[in-house]
Amino acid sequence: MLDTQVKNQLIKIVGVDRYLDRLEEITCYAYDAFVEEALPDAVIFPKTTAEVSELLKIASRHKIPVTGRGAGTSLCGASIPIRQGIVLCFSKMDKIIEVNTRDRYIIVQPGVVNGDVQKALEPFGFFYPPDPGSMNTSTIGGNIAMNAGGPRCLKYGVTADYVMGMEVVLASGKVIRFGSKNIKDVTGYKLSSLFCGSEGTLGIITEAILKVMPMPETVKTLMVTFDNLDNTAKAVTDIIGSGIIPVAMELMDKLTLNAIEDVAKLGLDREAQGSLLIEIDGVKEACEKEIKRIIEKVRQNGATHIQEAANDLEREKLWKARRSAYGIFAKLAPDIVTEDVTVPVSKVPQMIHKIVEITKKYELKMGVLAHAGDGNMHPMIPADRSNKEEWKKVEAAFAEIFQAAAELDGTLSGEHGIGLGKSAYLPLVMNKDTIEFMKTIKQAVDPDLILNPGKFV
Ligand SMILES: Cc1cc2nc3c(=O)[nH]c(=O)nc-3n(C[C@H](O)[C@H](O)[C@H](O)COP(=O)(O)OP(=O)(O)OC[C@H]3O[C@@H](n4cnc5c(N)ncnc54)[C@H](O)[C@@H]3O)c2cc1C
Repeated sequence: MLDTQVKNQLIKIVGVDRYLDRLEEITCYAYDAFVEEALPDAVIFPKTTAEVSELLKIASRHKIPVTGRGAGTSLCGASIPIRQGIVLCFSKMDKIIEVNTRDRYIIVQPGVVNGDVQKALEPFGFFYPPDPGSMNTSTIGGNIAMNAGGPRCLKYGVTADYVMGMEVVLASGKVIRFGSKNIKDVTGYKLSSLFCGSEGTLGIITEAILKVMPMPETVKTLMVTFDNLDNTAKAVTDIIGSGIIPVAMELMDKLTLNAIEDVAKLGLDREAQGSLLIEIDGVKEACEKEIKRIIEKVRQNGATHIQEAANDLEREKLWKARRSAYGIFAKLAPDIVTEDVTVPVSKVPQMIHKIVEITKKYELKMGVLAHAGDGNMHPMIPADRSNKEEWKKVEAAFAEIFQAAAELDGTLSGEHGIGLGKSAYLPLVMNKDTIEFMKTIKQAVDPDLILNPGKFV
């Protein structure tokens, strides 16, 4: 509980309606899509940058932890207020401020949902490339703080590649603005890169200028199945190695395909050991040539079935299957952990091999889903956290997966971040001095360590 005097000061800024501290209200903000939970002392819904600034000044003065929150879809516990304090929830800062397709940008408040950015751009024939699986729920503030990716980031890049400028409130309450409406801007340090992926530990994002892209003329989508997971993975490296960069290349193993088919009944091949959902875009003639080359590569790797989406409806059906995988897996057990180790694409077959081996060793049920074209794997384990023995195995399996990724020149996270779940494993991929350097930055920007404490730094 916050001190009554402090509570009254906070309420003075936002009003009593935008301040919650009753147990039944704050319980909803104690968790995200990871497996931990912690209750905050209060949840506050700011509407303006000035309010955020005033709130942070008070939090700083009283050294109260502050955790930003978008939609709470983090898969690594990044939005859990593990040291209690205040949760700043951005659902009331959800305005699209400007759409400017001539200069190729959109300006938004942090609580705007990614999917609403896409909808706002559609009538102009433009789109915003980062497309996390959670795009219909997750917010731009959360996407920037996590440097979110998604299937089409294989061709188009991740959130950091699209942030042109930002407004950020520092722990002290000072408001800084960097970047601009210019596609090219090398004025000063590229601070947007520092804040992208900072998981709310360096500042609170209150506005962002995002780069947008014209929609491609043609999109083609293929669903390819294989009777062997090794061949599925090898097809991925062969396609990329031949110089084709699809928009997306999503790999699903047999368990994942069957879990989806059980629920969604889409007519997916239940016998397939692996599948690839491949999408390309561009001008019509180039797409047709590329599709032929892709088909050649998957045939060389023993594809058993190749289906091209005949229209938008079929395409949507295939993507629906892919996007529903996590939700469907989450229903298989009381808890689910999904990781996102990433390896250089040439090492995808080896990494998949390792994941399968580790799963067998620990006798766990594990589905493999991957943005395979960029080496980003999502092994998912549905399990019961209250079953201590089973949970120990889950933790041991993931520890081995992290170790295996590091040995293959890979990394701990391609898009979900470090949060609470992976900070202990940072030394696998970063030396001591590099971790110290990150701590130095944190200390300089947030000397009282009030911003999202207990997370990766
Ligand atoms: C079904 C499902 C599919 C997913 N698919 C993907 C995927 O394909 N790719 C991917 O990258 N991720 C994916 N995720 C993970 C998650 O959706 C992303 O990390 C997303 O960016 C989180 O956004 P959010 O609005 O939910 O943020 P939250 O979870 O609320 O917060 C995430 C982090 O951002 C910080 N934060 C939020 N708002 C602000 C702000 N205004 N200023 C400063 N910090 C802030 C929080 O403190 C926290 O550290 C998926 C999650 C689910 C549940």
